[in-house]
This record gives sequence, C-alpha cells and structure tokens, in this order.
Amino acid sequence: MDEPLDPHLCTLLARAEVTRARSYIYEDGGRTIREQKELTEIPAPPFGEDARGRRMAELMSDSGLGRVGTDEVGNVLGWWGEGSEPPLIVSAHIDTVFPAGTDVTVRADGDRLVGPGISDDGRGLAALLALARAFARARPTLVRPVLFVGTVGEEGEGDLRGARHLFREGGPGRGAYGFVSLDGAGLTRIVTGGLGSRRFRLTVRGPGGHSWVDWGTPNPIHALGRAIAGFTELALAQEPRTTLSVGRWAGGTSVNAIPQEAWVELEVRSESLPELDRLDSRIRACARAALAGVNQSANGYRPAELTVDVIGDRPAGETDPEHPLVRAAIAATRAVGGIPELAVSSTDSNIPMSMGVAAITIGAGGEAGLAHTTDEWYRNERGPDGIVRGFLTVLLCAG
Ligand SMILES: [Zn+2]
Repeated sequence: MDEPLDPHLCTLLARAEVTRARSYIYEDGGRTIREQKELTEIPAPPFGEDARGRRMAELMSDSGLGRVGTDEVGNVLGWWGEGSEPPLIVSAHIDTVFPAGTDVTVRADGDRLVGPGISDDGRGLAALLALARAFARARPTLVRPVLFVGTVGEEGEGDLRGARHLFREGGPGRGAYGFVSLDGAGLTRIVTGGLGSRRFRLTVRGPGGHSWVDWGTPNPIHALGRAIAGFTELALAQEPRTTLSVGRWAGGTSVNAIPQEAWVELEVRSESLPELDRLDSRIRACARAALAGVNQSANGYRPAELTVDVIGDRPAGETDPEHPLVRAAIAATRAVGGIPELAVSSTDSNIPMSMGVAAITIGAGGEAGLAHTTDEWYRNERGPDGIVRGFLTVLLCAG
C-alpha cells in the first residue's frame, strides 16, 4: 500500500531530534527486551500487582520521567514535559490474567521468548519505558505534557479499576487530550472501538426441603433453569453486534433435596452502550418472570427470592476515526511500513472512550501468540518499529 505520508509527519520526520530518537530506540532494543523479560518474571496476578508496580516505578525514574509516584489503587505515574495544556496519556497495564502461584519464568525457545504475560502486557510495559527514554534522550519540543502510566486491573476481574481511577472525578485523566494504551505486540491494529461487557451473577434462595416431603417448595434451580431458557430466546442485535453467554452455574446440596440456593453467571457484550442497557433490563425482567412462574405453584410455602449482582461492567465506547489521535496513529503506522487496521476490543481505552476522551489501543511491535496461556510467546520481529510507531503517534499529538 503506497499511501502518501501525512504532511505533518513528513515535517516531523525531517527534524534532527526525531531522527535522534528513532536511532536511539533501535540502539535501546536490547535493554527493552531485558526489561520486558525482567518485568514479566515479577508475578502480577489480579489485585496483586504491587511488586511489579514498585519495580516499574524504579524503571520509570531511571528512564528519565519526573514526579514518579504510585496512586491509591496502585497505578504508577510519571511525567515528561511541563505546561498547563491537557496531557496526552500513554499507558500499559501492569496486571496479568495469571493467578498467584503461576510459574512466570521466561525461557528462550529459538528466536521466541516464552512465558505467561511476556507479550500481554510485558511488551507494553517495556515499550512504555523505551518511549520515556526516547523522549528524555531526544528532548523534542512539546506543546503538552505526556503522562506515562502503568495501570492495574486491566484484565478480567480487575474490571479496568486502574483506568477508572485515572479518569475519576478530579483524577489526572479527566480532561486529558487523549489516551494511548500499549497492549501486547503488533504493528498494524489500532483499536478505536471499545467493546462493552456486563457480567451478572443471579442468585435464587428459597426455603429448601426434602424432595418428597416438601415437594411444592419453590425450587431455585428450577427458577434459574427457566430463566436461562428465557435468556437463550432473547433476540440480540446483530448490528451493533451484541452477544449473551451463560458461563457458570451451581447450586443445591443433594439429589434428593430441594435446593436452598442456586446461582448462575452470565456475560453480555456489545459495541453499543444503549444495547447493553437494554439487554440488562430484559435479563432482569426475564429472571423475574421465571421466578414468578416457580413461586406461583408454591402451595403456601415461602416464595423464593432473586438477587441480581453486576460483577463486572466495562462501558462501551468509540473514538472518532477522524480524531487527530487516530490520524496520528495511522500516519505513524504507515511511517514504519505497517498497514493500519482499525479494530474493536475491550481494553483500558474503554474508560476514556466512554467519557468522550479520545483513546486508542495499539500493539508495541514484535509478534506474539497464545496470550492468556502459560505458553504465551513473543518474537522481537520489528519490535523497535512498534516503539517508533508509538513515539511518532505521541509526538504528532504532543509535539
Ligand atoms: Zn492486555
């Protein structure tokens, strides 16, 4: 694809400090890989990111960032540049999906590094540090400060708590110019759509009893069975794509006892927040109707009761593909020979997107596979190009 380069980018590429930064990023490639390996080998299970966060703070200071510190939830923050303009935020996530006790040793296998989290998001963290050093070394003139952040709680049950905290009322993310998340490997994808999801746990409790003697008592499993049957018949939007899946359920104590309690967990996903909200109320209505059906034949027994808990909630959102941040990422991708591809995913960017702050998630160079498994691997094929892509994206928006 021979697209002409963005004129603003051409001017930028001709500047001496940009040439300096680019060659520095390539020279720095060895250190970047060493730090990627070192950080990956510090366990960072959900809600257990402290040790890796502490090391990240040291490395951020070593890399030349100022005012490095850790906030109340464990995010690690460091600044480059001054001024009162709204900052551009660049981030990578500290946490992994792997529970405490997972062997996080990284081993070499040919030209691959293999280990849980080596790419997602060991690569992003290492790239964040390499980017900071490129700014500290080349000292390009900036019109706005850049805030570097290692976030906690990006994966699964973390429910984006680090990003939420960053963008809280009065937080440094509020009013930011934009947000760039470096997540995993790759040189082409630019996530501009934030896939929303909501996770529910439905619990039904009843009096319980003997399967023969107390027959007629409202049965929580029967109620949930009816509810699940109802969920599978809900019509889901095709456009924007919306899905519903029941993931787990359990309950009861014995085959010859009417259960006192049963629960089910389900997840809905959608590219649209109104669709998520609409589905949320249909799920609740469906579960209430199922419960009423079971309670109707209670024969004077105490009725069963339903509780609905939201156990995860990632807001959907979108960044306008015409926003200067997206245009910058597209131009920077082309500048390193990549073919830009806009995508939808569920990442830290969901939070700023849902608040109207422009946000993108991009890969940090190299190739990777088997993410979220203990055989996750990373290959440093064009790894530095990914860091140059991030550098140019930031510079186009802040320089
Ligand atoms: Zn990730």
